Amino acid sequence: MADNDKAAGSTKRREMPDGIWLKCPDCGEILYRKEVVRNRWVCPKCSHHFRISADDYIELLVDPGSFEEYFQDIAPVDALGFRDTAKYSDRLRNAQNGNRGREAVRTGRALIEQNEVCLAVMDFSFLGGSMGSVVGEKLARLTQTALEGELPLLIVSCSGGARMQEGILSLMQMAKTAAQLARLAERGLPFISILTHPTTGGVSASFATLGDVILAEPKALVGFAGPRVIEQTIQQELPPGFQRSEFLLEHGMIDRIVARNELRSTLSQLIRFFNDARQTRQLG
Ligand SMILES: [Zn+2]
Repeated sequence: MADNDKAAGSTKRREMPDGIWLKCPDCGEILYRKEVVRNRWVCPKCSHHFRISADDYIELLVDPGSFEEYFQDIAPVDALGFRDTAKYSDRLRNAQNGNRGREAVRTGRALIEQNEVCLAVMDFSFLGGSMGSVVGEKLARLTQTALEGELPLLIVSCSGGARMQEGILSLMQMAKTAAQLARLAERGLPFISILTHPTTGGVSASFATLGDVILAEPKALVGFAGPRVIEQTIQQELPPGFQRSEFLLEHGMIDRIVARNELRSTLSQLIRFFNDARQTRQLG
């Protein structure tokens, strides 16, 4: 009986007109799509944060029309002639087709409640937001822009980690981004890192966790290796909620969990705080 019900239910769901309803992967509730969109892609029942695009984050965070995009012309190359189940060059071409030629990060300058910032937002839809040479270069250049303009730097991370198809060239981006951020720190300019679901691998192991302030969206997966790999390595079961934002906050790895609809105001507050502190220092 129960099985029949379930089967009937799933048939019904398949018959639902595409795009009007969607199912929350966390609480299982069937949601009215428009309501979820209005709620910034957060489940109104359980606050599950659906993944949103880089464009959506830019729209969410910055003053309307203030985002000025930089470094769009830097394009990736398949330097190693790499091939796994598909050619890297083909994967790149496919990803670029769906992304208007962009790479896995968008970088630029913007205003957040009138405060000027340098902003980078990673794009998971481009090869899992993986960090290859172009992502590293764009982030390094943006950090340089922040240095020259004496501006705060904000990076919204969403990434599976380093881009394995670029091998060592990809891993080198970890050192490159970290070195640039150290220069920013020397100059007393703030870097605010915003971790979204998921932020893992070489991205979590480099710039994403080097923020002066590290914010995370609720329940975001943040870690280096995945839970399955860790369990196999240490031969132990992991505690519940391991590698989620709440667990990281409890263990002092991040500073604050911020719901998506409070992200803009929280960032604005932090930027103002750092700008005031910097001004006071300069006056002193
Ligand atoms: Zn839900």
